[in-house]
Amino acid sequence: MPLTLDQLNAASPAEAAALLDGLYEHSPWIAERALARRPFASIHQLKHAMVQVLDEAGRDAQLTLIRAHPELAGKAMVSKTLTAESTHEQSASGLTNCSPAEFERIQQLNAAYNARFGFPFILAVRGPRGTGLTRAEIIATFARRLGNHPDFELREALRNIHRIVEMRLNDKFGFAPTFGNQVWDCAELLAQHSDPGYAEQGQLTVTYLTAAHQACQAQLQRWMSDCGFDEVSVDAVGNVVGVYHGSDPQARRLLTGSHYDTVRNGGKYDGRLGIFVPLVAVRELHRAGRRLPFGIEVIGFAEEEGQRYKATFLGSGAVIGQFDPAWLEQRDADGITMREAMRAAGRPGTLEAIGAMKRDPSSYLGFVEVHIEQGPVLNEIDLPLGVVTSINGSVRYVGEVVGMASHAGTTPMDRRRDAAAAVAELVLFLERRAAGVPNLVGTVGMLEVPGGSINVVPGRCRFSLDIRATTNEVRDACAADTLAELERICTRRGLHHTLEETMRAAAAPSAPEWQARWERAVESLGLPIYRMPSGAGHDAMKLHEVMPQAMLFVRGLNSGISHNPLESSTNDDCDLSVRAFQHVLEQLCSELS
Ligand SMILES: [Zn+2]
Repeated sequence: MPLTLDQLNAASPAEAAALLDGLYEHSPWIAERALARRPFASIHQLKHAMVQVLDEAGRDAQLTLIRAHPELAGKAMVSKTLTAESTHEQSASGLTNCSPAEFERIQQLNAAYNARFGFPFILAVRGPRGTGLTRAEIIATFARRLGNHPDFELREALRNIHRIVEMRLNDKFGFAPTFGNQVWDCAELLAQHSDPGYAEQGQLTVTYLTAAHQACQAQLQRWMSDCGFDEVSVDAVGNVVGVYHGSDPQARRLLTGSHYDTVRNGGKYDGRLGIFVPLVAVRELHRAGRRLPFGIEVIGFAEEEGQRYKATFLGSGAVIGQFDPAWLEQRDADGITMREAMRAAGRPGTLEAIGAMKRDPSSYLGFVEVHIEQGPVLNEIDLPLGVVTSINGSVRYVGEVVGMASHAGTTPMDRRRDAAAAVAELVLFLERRAAGVPNLVGTVGMLEVPGGSINVVPGRCRFSLDIRATTNEVRDACAADTLAELERICTRRGLHHTLEETMRAAAAPSAPEWQARWERAVESLGLPIYRMPSGAGHDAMKLHEVMPQAMLFVRGLNSGISHNPLESSTNDDCDLSVRAFQHVLEQLCSELS
């Protein structure tokens, strides 16, 4: 019989501790201390309480816990002295069937890892879906993590322990994250489609209107139909649109969705997660034969990343009536215009058809978007969900400082006009200036000395500036200070410079009532509310111009890395994002009825 929360909440401390036995390796104190925080409203709240207990216990206790774990495929496995839980996990992952070469490689890694970090390598070998990593995946992760900073790796070991416990706890409670499994499996299946040149290398690249992009369209349409959407179509720019009618088909709609195109060699969740989550929610409504007092319109946006054509946010832009006519004549790397690409993909390729896509904002309640965080914050604080307060406004510049190229041997230090040294000063200034203000970031991502050589004082230095903040005012104040500093540096060093603003996007603060709905949804799951800005741009920025919007962030694994094949999420986190979305639907139901 699976354990129930009521049972756990009602048990005496000793009984409750016995019910949670075997969660943390040889460390029952973690569950015991967490149990002092009963009653738990959800299994997620219990998980989070244990995360907090270990966090508060300090480094020594954390190290003791890590050291209580067996080595991966180590002596304990061979001599069969693992705990029952570890035996199950290590054999389910196939580690007991290692080839001699694999076994030897793991022993080498174990030795190197122990020498570097002083504790054994810990990996949740059941993986992000709970079905087990392959031995090749385990070995690759092991080798990669060997390169981590020791402080970071300690945290990564703890995160893996919590993930192991999460799955052990699910087993105890007989809980299966079935919504999350559906989302996770959709992400895997959609990632089967990839552009030529990348597909062969197992990399995910889906750029605008390629064959792989059209295959994704077809797949999303099939899924929408299977989930019970009433209307499914592909619009003039390739957005996949599904409508699930409200009890009155004319009722206003909740608009949601995200993009299905990817960057080159990107991840499986960026954008796509925000399409799958509402699909699963609508599937549940349809299965229950339920109609809400409002409709749900899900859009899989065709283009957000601006990879094949420089037309970022093309999909969501067209929906709000912003489509630059010049884009149709833009050519990709093979010389194919966007108009030609649209026609080849069965779209009309006319401004008239694109213009007809424009939505009337008064037909919508608002826009919500679920998105993988694409940053390290949630992963670092061990929280699955974050509520977005604002999508950062940004401004970008490219510039060049010009000094005098001269002989590195014969030009005395006090006679130099070194352009690179000047830009280096600027880099450090921006770093300090941005670090001094919360939620402000400044980056010099491009820095080059054109035609530089080892024995020449740099005469020119090209650079870029990228400044983002939650408000336009904070962004602009930082930009103004940085530009003034550039002026001062150049005057002092006797240099001159050019600077061109190449991009400016306004901040998109979440609509307070929509942000509050996400907050209540997170709270309903038993999780603390964590508010955070979005450092990256999203489709919600476009919809923001015509209707209220708010976003929910979902934790990414591997430090939240994104635009990278290591981007990853667990079935449990995906499951929570579906449940949060469902809660927003329920809130709207009670508000509107
Ligand atoms: Zn995205």
